[in-house]
Amino acid sequence: MTTVLFLNGNIYTMDALQPRAQAMAIDDVSGRILAVGSNDEVRRVGGQHAELIDIKGRTVLPGFIDAHIHLMSTAYRAYHIDAENASSEDEVAELVRQRAAKTPPGRWIQGGRWDKNLWPGGRFPTKASLDAAAPHHPVVLWSKDGHLLWVNSLALQKAGITAETPEPETGAILRDGSGEPTGILQEEGATSLMYRVVEKSDPELDRLLIEEALQKLQRSGITSIHDIEGEDTLQIFQQLRDEGKLGVRVQMVLPRQLLPQLRERGIKNEDNDLLRVTGIKIFADGTLGSQTAAMLESFEGNPGNFGILSIPENEMQAVVRDASDLGLMVAIHAIGDRAARVALNSIEYAQRWLAEQGRPYDPERGLRYRLEHVQLIARNDLERMRRLGVVASIQPYHAVADRDLAVRYWGKRHRYAYAYRTMHEMGIPIALGSDAPVETFDPLHILYAATVRSDPESRRPSWLPDQALSVSNALWGYTLGAAYAGAEEKLKGSITVGKLGDAVVLRDDIVHVPQEKMSENGVQATILGGKIVYGEV
Ligand SMILES: [Zn+2]
Repeated sequence: MTTVLFLNGNIYTMDALQPRAQAMAIDDVSGRILAVGSNDEVRRVGGQHAELIDIKGRTVLPGFIDAHIHLMSTAYRAYHIDAENASSEDEVAELVRQRAAKTPPGRWIQGGRWDKNLWPGGRFPTKASLDAAAPHHPVVLWSKDGHLLWVNSLALQKAGITAETPEPETGAILRDGSGEPTGILQEEGATSLMYRVVEKSDPELDRLLIEEALQKLQRSGITSIHDIEGEDTLQIFQQLRDEGKLGVRVQMVLPRQLLPQLRERGIKNEDNDLLRVTGIKIFADGTLGSQTAAMLESFEGNPGNFGILSIPENEMQAVVRDASDLGLMVAIHAIGDRAARVALNSIEYAQRWLAEQGRPYDPERGLRYRLEHVQLIARNDLERMRRLGVVASIQPYHAVADRDLAVRYWGKRHRYAYAYRTMHEMGIPIALGSDAPVETFDPLHILYAATVRSDPESRRPSWLPDQALSVSNALWGYTLGAAYAGAEEKLKGSITVGKLGDAVVLRDDIVHVPQEKMSENGVQATILGGKIVYGEV
């Protein structure tokens, strides 16, 4: 065993019992922290053969934990059609035309990130423009928020979606006056009809893309993620772990559709701090930008549109109960206030059911309930979140990226949206994350958004600044809060003796640097289990 001593640091431990330190000792075999304190105190633990690393006064924090990311999709973004910067339907069609010119006919063209809200008129695009651009390739393009699929006629044909296709229960097929599909599929009920036939990707390519994405996470100071994706991605992570190439710790949150399988075969987590299956994800509704979030009152200027509940309430109750029974973390995507209410109903039901089984919900035993995004929520439901011990898993970059949409589609209600500070002050545990690829995964940019309530690119005036988090609360949400959201607060999230030696070394003191310079700080090095996996100090 080698002990690595990191000396002369400016360490913010995030451990309330010992908030500041100068040095830490990590056993690089177990990856655990052996000592935290002054240089002298830590040296005593090291012995003669310890390796010494001088941090030269730089700032050290526990490694960032991104509590909500989709890594495979993030990796794909760098590879497939990326229409984020397209400013009209025609521009996207042009990207598709160029891709079609170098793709053999019949192969699928995939990608997305288009956002009609940024286009003149803001109307839904249609299959016609894609048909003209790529008549011989099936085309499927996701919207930026991942809740709309824009497809061409060949894709519809392959999926067998026609005027006769019945309306799915939890989604919508947009149609013209004669009932013909227009090329827009809303929410999973409709998009899954298409995904039965979309060409599977190449596993070797997927693996390379994931490896690249993991390196990017390391460069950003991220040492753990809660990855919300399916079994294909889990298999890649398993492979990388077995080969010793998984350089970021992963908690896997699988889609609820896999719950029956998980119940049947049990959850086999090898004794390994790198990869664990810990939870399931349920979609309660859609998104704000697509006006598919489930609302208690209609969308502003769109009377009668209450959005879409993505799962019937009784089914959600059964899923939350069954997951609780297995001890799986339950992460429920809830954007609109009706989605939050229905999700909390299910959680309350499951907790009551557990109590009836004689094993009342106890966070000490590792189960966690989380609302993902929780962008609009009624005051009494916030109170219920606190009472039920539900974590608010929030992505502060959404608040600044969606500010205009929130005003447009929620009207006066926007003032109560993304109410992070209120949640924190009420005692609701918060966990920070990115939701990449929807937004950036760079923690320094996200921390800027959380504390300034603006984005570092536009630097527009703060939006609802009374809901900004303090720097220390935001850092807590990115470390110990995120660890708590994953029921790993005894293992990660602070620089504490016995925990994993995961840390990030920053160039400047993040607590004392002027807040508007937050995003200009830089990651000097990333440490995983005592080993420097990125950069140097
Ligand atoms: Zn997400």
